[in-house]
Amino acid sequence: MNQIDRTRRVHLALLAAAGLLGLPAQAQDTPPAIDPAQFSACLNELKGSQAFRAITPGTFAQHTANLAADPTVLVLLNRQPEFTMPVWDYLAVLVDDERVADGRAAYARWQSTLQKIEQQTGVAPQVVVGVWGVESNFGQNLGGRPLVQSLATLSCFGRRQAYFRGEFASALRILQEGHIAPDKLSGSWAGAFGQTQFMPSTFFRSAVDFDGDGRRDIVDSVPDALASTAKFLQNAGYRRGEPWGFEVRLPAGYDSSGASRKTKRPITAWRADGLTLADGAPLPDSLPSAGLMVPARGGPAFLVGRNFDTLYSYNASENYALAIAQLSNLVAAPAATPMAFAQPWPTDDPGLSRAQNRELQTLLLARGHDIGSADGMIGAKTREAIKAEQQRLGHRADGRAGQKLLAALRRG
Ligand code: CA
Repeated sequence: MNQIDRTRRVHLALLAAAGLLGLPAQAQDTPPAIDPAQFSACLNELKGSQAFRAITPGTFAQHTANLAADPTVLVLLNRQPEFTMPVWDYLAVLVDDERVADGRAAYARWQSTLQKIEQQTGVAPQVVVGVWGVESNFGQNLGGRPLVQSLATLSCFGRRQAYFRGEFASALRILQEGHIAPDKLSGSWAGAFGQTQFMPSTFFRSAVDFDGDGRRDIVDSVPDALASTAKFLQNAGYRRGEPWGFEVRLPAGYDSSGASRKTKRPITAWRADGLTLADGAPLPDSLPSAGLMVPARGGPAFLVGRNFDTLYSYNASENYALAIAQLSNLVAAPAATPMAFAQPWPTDDPGLSRAQNRELQTLLLARGHDIGSADGMIGAKTREAIKAEQQRLGHRADGRAGQKLLAALRRG
């Protein structure tokens, strides 16, 4: 992946992340006006262009006739993240009780399929389940925007037209080859779709027909989706039998300021530095080399190997990769396993689970704040209401949903 690709992926991943975390899908800003004649002229030009050479005129016409542009995706393309979440807030939402319970049920239900997938790809079942849970909440959050409409709009307007033209052509090729029905091809505003949240071009690199019906259906076939996830990780260099990494204990006074996931050293070198597992046991030999990752100074530290990098490549975010890693550990662990890392995060105000977000919203509604329904999505209206309550209570008015505010509102 070259630097431009990486930057683009990070940008798209951050915006896609907003959807995964329950931030609002609608933009607050007014969408730009689009001239239908200009859109139609652009589509006409695309039809004969090199990027669309694999698309027949019939396919193109079938899916673009009477197509209107969707200007709201252009607002989302330009949206800057206005709210930076600390790593513990990501994990509180992405690895909460509900998702671990759903993950354990999925792990049990799809065990034999997952074992077959592991035989073919080397990717451990719990890792596939971890990705599935974080990417689409086990197939429950696929995104509802029609892909052809979003990608056609982004191909003709906005900052990244060349990139989106490739994705638009791939989306039409998916339809042309009959992998997914047109009315099922919906996803995020940027074109990630299905239970694996692949971009259309990723589909052609990694999607697999695992149930043998001749179609690679990552929307409606769980076996296809799980095998495609594993194939993506295998393509990214996943190593059979290796763990993603583990939480470690640093020796007292250890200088971790230069820690990086990417700076891999042999486990023997880390052992010589005095690092142990979080419970003090010696570092195992299951990981030949690893990088040290310290997401927040004073918080938990991790040694992470090549397989963690494959999780990173899924979303270009270390916080996301850590959520997948932690979820994968928990879905395969005994039910009594603690959710938290051995070393707590350096905060006295931890983040909220999705259930707690809903409870917070219910309490805000009861206090008369007009925030719509208690859907667990912490959007702009909820943040404004949080700020008002924080001001009233004398808390720092940053609009963040945390345990301190929830506790204060529960007290009344
Ligand atoms: Ca299939």
